[in-house]
Parts: sequence; C-alpha cells; structure tokens
Amino acid sequence: MTVSFEYDSPGNDSDALKHAIANKLVFFIGKDPIVALPKDWLNATFLAVRDRLVERWMRTTRAQYSQDLKRVYYLSMEFLIGRALSNALLALELFEPVKAALDEMGVDLNEILDYEPDAALGNGGLGRLAACFLDSMATMGVPGFAYGIRYDFGMFKQRIMDGQQVEAPDTWLSALNVWEFPRDEVQYVVQFGGRIETTGNTAHWLDTQDVLAMAYDYIIPGYQTTATNTLRLWSARASRSINLHMFNQGDYFAAVEEKNHSENVSRVLYPDDSTQHGKELRLRQEYFFVSASLQDIVHRYLFMHEDFTQLSDKVAIHLNDTHPVLAVPELMRILMDEHHLDWDSAWGYTQNIFSYTNHTLMSEALETWPVEMFAHWLPRHLKIIFDINERFLSDIKRRFAGDTDLIRRVSLVDEAGERKIRMAYIAVVASYKVNGVSALHSQLMKSTIFADFARIYPERFTNVTNGITPRRWLAQANRPLAALIDEKIGKTWRVNLDELAELKPLVENEDFIANMILAKRVNKERLVYYIATHLGGIVSADALFDIQVKRIHEYKRQLLNLLHVISRYNFIIKNPDVAIVPRVVIFAGKAASAYKIAKLLIHLINDVGTKINHDERIGDKLKVVFIPNYSVSLAEIIIPAADLSEQISTAGTEASGTGNMKFALNAALTIGTLDGANIEIGQAVGADNIFIFGNNSDDVQRLRQGSYNPRAIYEADPVLHEVLNQIGSGFFSPEEPERYRVIFDLLVNWGDHYQLLADFADYIKVQSKVDALYLNPLEWHKKALLNVAGMGRFSSDRSISEYARKIWHSSSVKL
Ligand SMILES: *Cc1c(COP(=O)(O)O)cnc(C)c1O
Repeated sequence: MTVSFEYDSPGNDSDALKHAIANKLVFFIGKDPIVALPKDWLNATFLAVRDRLVERWMRTTRAQYSQDLKRVYYLSMEFLIGRALSNALLALELFEPVKAALDEMGVDLNEILDYEPDAALGNGGLGRLAACFLDSMATMGVPGFAYGIRYDFGMFKQRIMDGQQVEAPDTWLSALNVWEFPRDEVQYVVQFGGRIETTGNTAHWLDTQDVLAMAYDYIIPGYQTTATNTLRLWSARASRSINLHMFNQGDYFAAVEEKNHSENVSRVLYPDDSTQHGKELRLRQEYFFVSASLQDIVHRYLFMHEDFTQLSDKVAIHLNDTHPVLAVPELMRILMDEHHLDWDSAWGYTQNIFSYTNHTLMSEALETWPVEMFAHWLPRHLKIIFDINERFLSDIKRRFAGDTDLIRRVSLVDEAGERKIRMAYIAVVASYKVNGVSALHSQLMKSTIFADFARIYPERFTNVTNGITPRRWLAQANRPLAALIDEKIGKTWRVNLDELAELKPLVENEDFIANMILAKRVNKERLVYYIATHLGGIVSADALFDIQVKRIHEYKRQLLNLLHVISRYNFIIKNPDVAIVPRVVIFAGKAASAYKIAKLLIHLINDVGTKINHDERIGDKLKVVFIPNYSVSLAEIIIPAADLSEQISTAGTEASGTGNMKFALNAALTIGTLDGANIEIGQAVGADNIFIFGNNSDDVQRLRQGSYNPRAIYEADPVLHEVLNQIGSGFFSPEEPERYRVIFDLLVNWGDHYQLLADFADYIKVQSKVDALYLNPLEWHKKALLNVAGMGRFSSDRSISEYARKIWHSSSVKL
C-alpha cells in the first residue's frame, strides 16, 4: 500500500491570514474572541506566522541533508535574540497583510507586539552578536546550526528604586512560549563526576551523576529567502524524574529535591562582570550544553556517513568565546571512548574542526578553572586536557629548544599558585583559526595575550570585524529612515548594505536632508513618549539627544560621560545668560549583580539626574535620564532617537563594540575614542564625520607602564577639580556625603586604571565642537547622512561571508 500524506500549504493573503489567526485563537488557545486578551491574540498570530515558516524550514533541512553540505555549528552560551514575531513578519514580508487581517478583527498589531517578552538569553554585545549572526547565516543560506542553553531565567530584569539597581528574575517562560518546538525525543545523557577505569587502551567513565539534556528548537528565518536555520537550546531534566528508592523510603522531599538539583544546570544565565568567580555551577553549565551539542552533532553526522573519514569536511564547530571550549575534550572523548578511534586520528579530526573567536583582552576576564574542581566534575576531560598539553609542550620543546620559560608561559595548565586550566589556550591550541573582532583588537590579541601563540602558530590568527543585521537595526527599528532610503535607492540594501553608499550624492539635496531631520524627529518623539509614559519625566525633542546605552562597566567609562555632564551643569549655573545647546543625556544598561562599582555608578547617574533635573536654573538646558532595564527591544526604540552616540571606552579595552555600529547606521554622529571598531567606522564614514578624542591604545599602554599621575591632572584642571570634589564630598548625595568617596579615590588616589582623567580635557573640548556643529542642522545632518552611507561594511552579512570564506570554508544551501 502506498502512503499518502498531504497538508494544506498556508496562504499569505490577508483573508487566509485572518482565518488562520481566528482558527488558532479558537482551536489552539481555546479562547472566544469576546474574552481574548492581547496576549491571546499575540499567541494566535504567532502560531499562524510560524506555520508559514515551517514549510521553509523543512525544505531547507531536507536540502541541507540531500546536498550533504558542510555544516557550521555555532556554539554560544548566549543568544540575545529579543522579540521574534516582528522579525519573522519582516522576513516573510507579512507585516502589512497580518496587520490588515488583525485590523478587520478589531485588533491592533502594533499593540499586541508589545506583549511579547524579549528572549534575553544573553548579557550584552557577545550574545547580541550571536543573534545577528543567526539572522545573517539564515539570510545567506549558510548551513548553520546553533546551540545554546534554554535558561529558565534569562538576563535579570532591572528596576531602579531610590536611584539604585534592583534585580528581579526574568520569567520569560512563565507565559506560553508558542515559538519553540519542544523535542521530547531528542534527549542526551550528560555525565558528571564519577571516576575513570581503564581497560587496555579504553577509558570508562563510571559512577557518574547524570542529567538529561532535552532539545527545544527555534526556527531562524532568513530575510526574503526560503532558507531558514535552527537554533537548538538545551534544557536540563533530572535523569529519573523522582528517585524511586528515596520515594519508597517515604522521603518524598529528598527525592524531589534531587530532581531540583540536577535541573539547576539550565536555571539561570550568569551575569558577566568580566571577572571569573570559578563558580561550579557555571562549569557544569558549560559542559552540559557542550556535551549535548557534541553528541547531537556526531549523531547527525553518523546518520549520513558510515565512518569518520569525512568528519572535518562535513563539520565545522565555532566557539563563541571560551565558554564552549569543553567541546574540544568532549569531541576527543566521544571519538576515543565511544567510537574507539586512536588518539592521533581523533586529534587529527579535532584540529580541523574547531575555530574560535576571542572577545576580550582583559586578563581578569579570561576563563580558568581550578584543576581540583575540574577533577571532581570532569575527571575524564581533565585527563584528556593533560594529554593534549603533554603532546603540545613536547612539540614546543622540540621547536623552541632552549626557551624554557616559553613552556611555562604557554602550558594549558597555569602552575603558579593554585593550579588552573587555561581555557583560552586550549581554544588556541585546538583551533585551526582564531579571530579577533576588529582590526585593532586582532592586532592587540597577537601582541598581548596570545603573543607566544602568534609566534608558534602565525598562520592561525586572523580578523573578522563584527557586524549587525540591517534587518532588525534599520528596517525594523527605524521605519521612518528606512522608508526615506527606500524611496531613493530601492529596498535591496536590506541584503546588500553596501548599496547605502549610493546615498552619498544626496548630501547636496537639501530636501532629502530636511526629510532626514523629520525622520529623526519622529524617532525622538517616540522616545520622549516612552520616557513620559514609563518614567514620568518630560524631555524636549528639541534638545540634542546624547546617548550612552550598554552594560555598565568601568572600561566603558559611563563615568567620563558623567564628568562632562556635571561640568556642563556647573557651566550653566555660572553663566546663566549664555546660550547653550540644550541636551538630554540618556543612559541605560545593567550592572552585573556582584559588581559593586558599576552599581554605584548607576546610583551616581541617578543622583546627578535628580539634582540637575530639579534645578530650576537649568530648565531644558540639561536633562539626565536613566532608562531602566536595557534590552534589545528598548535598544530598538532608543538608538534611532540618538543625535550623539557615546563610544568612549579606554583605548584598547573594547574589543569591537556593536552598539557603535547601530547608532551610526541610525544616523547618529559618534563621539568616541580610537578603540575597537570605532577606528574602522571612522575610516568608513570619513574623519570629518566622527568626533574622535583622547589617547590611543599605544598612549594608554605607555601611561600604564609608568608615568601616569592622575592626581596631577586633578590639581591642574580647575573644571575637573570642581567636578571631582563635588562627587567626592557629597554634593549629589547630601544625605550621605561619603557615598561616592570611593569613586573620587579610584580616580584621584588609586591610579585611575581606565585613565578617565587623561582623556577628560580633550573630551570636553570635542564636546564643545559637537555643540557648535549642532547649531547648524543642515551641516549636522549632512554628516549624519554620510555616516549612514558609509556603514555598508558593518552588516553582519559581511562578517558572516568572511567567516564562511576564510574560516569555515562552507558553501550555501541551494534551494
Ligand atoms: C548591541 C547591544 C549591546 C552591545 O552594545 P555595546 O555598545 O557594543 O556594548 C548590548 N546590549 C544590547 C541589548 C544590544 O542591542
């Protein structure tokens, strides 16, 4: 008997969509439209839209199998995806028909979109980069498959109470999550602890505590293409849902508690404070997701291939930072212990499969794990790492005979003090390519943290400058500007961002510039409305919007921005009659919960804001706003409203930045240091169209090496002197004068590690150039246009095509 299988291919006209949404509401959600809440309509719409992606998804998956393409596996602990529905509507070009369908049923699409919680499975730039890369891989047909963790609680929610950050859990999964496909049948056992027994050449890992990893799949739509990709997130399950033995003894709670213990592994996203605490649960999290992913990868490979000879031709695994580096010993374990390959073949494959992106040069942020902790949880992997190290070091001894200190420096095990495993070094030794994320960062990577390795493996190191997806960060976030651009150069810039260069001649077109001014105005009014409705404060869209939004961190120097704000305040008080460009200075960002100084900075920003915003002598000349709970969705509102983008990190500390790219693409001018991708942005938009100030990374290095004397700068500069005294003496915290003493001390007495004082004077000088230019709207917006026109190369499509060509050697799926 032949089997017949047919289904209804869903239609995309608004009538079909209307029926589909109505059917989902009634039959899936089970709600009468009379009582349906906005979230019910959201879910019904979600399901109807998802149906329209599933066909594409199956077609892509089938094509990937039948073409037996090399797959690119992207391993990342973080994916800061934000909302999915508006993105899917854009990719499918269904926004207008779905809006019309909902209109007919009396529902406002824009209103229900706001009910979708952000998928906030990341801290900041690193996680958002992974999300932009998913979008580009799908859009370009790169056969990508991404793996991560389905955290029950993503990035914490930030509230501000009495000026201070208060964290609350992000319960993004508490509502029905109709976007994901739970895959009950895709479960892997992940082992922990136990002991190793060796028989002959084979190691057995015994008496382990096991956790199950269960897959949840997310469709990643490509823009205007049938190609899609998959994001597979792992959730921990207890391996036996209840310990029957304890249950039989009548100890119900102990039995259930054990279940809670193993499921803890995917409970919460760790905040990034750029220092490692050596948390055991974090180590277990890393292994949990890597082990499930590697088992899945090998399983998929063996589904299509009889032996491992083609493994490195069909599989590329990319490590987004060092968090997934355990994938290296895990692949070795699977190949040797489960499939009985010998060391040399297993290592041969492994070395041709992995590539690694480094994201930071700050030594305190480089991951290390105490050998003892490692031995307890992952005894088999520790042995494999020791074996890799032994072979690696004996090779080094041969190649660099006589250089004994080199051995100590490059060993995968740090032997000074408590022995530690150096995860970044494993990544470098095992990967065939290692990249930094901007030209400067890749250069510094080779001259600082990996200097020895750059000598050992010079061909291994390369650069791929970060990028952002123009679909979300321009087409979706900034409809007014996108529409203006469409009118002039058509719509294909969405997939070929270099076409923005065609806007350049329009600098001479005053009508176009006038329209850009109007578009900016609309975006600023939207942010003004957000601030009014969420924070209660009224700010004027006539002011220059000066914006710094990113994680709160000393190296990003929100404090330098604040020093300028305070000096501006003092200037206005002393010169009440002088005309000054009115500014609204906006901050947003989260501080890691254990990072005291960053949290104190948030408090200071709010205290300064309270003082200035309530000072009647100031009026609209200066306002300071801290917008709580920075997220992808908030970024989509804030960034298009910016006139000025603050990218002011200490040169040499910000690996690339991607916020800087989003702002410039949205027609803001940048004030920034020669750091990360700012340098390349300056080259792309032209030195006349960016405000650069301060020391470069060589200057910073030189000052660090000796002569830096922040106190002398404090004493010599009366403007700075006054500002720092105000902070240190309680001018902004009269109820607690000592509150910010430590900030004064950090800058003046304790070495000013991030060299704010060294850059202060130049920063203030360049800020006054900003004011002067803003007085001439035509000139200002001409430069803003040249920024937009120069941003082509900062598309994540360009980044991904470089990865595909230089690193992964992958080709696109044919559909
Ligand atoms: C782009 C982005 C970041 C990264 O910003 P940087 O300025 O590069 O640090 C962080 N968080 C969110 C929500 C973003 O969208």
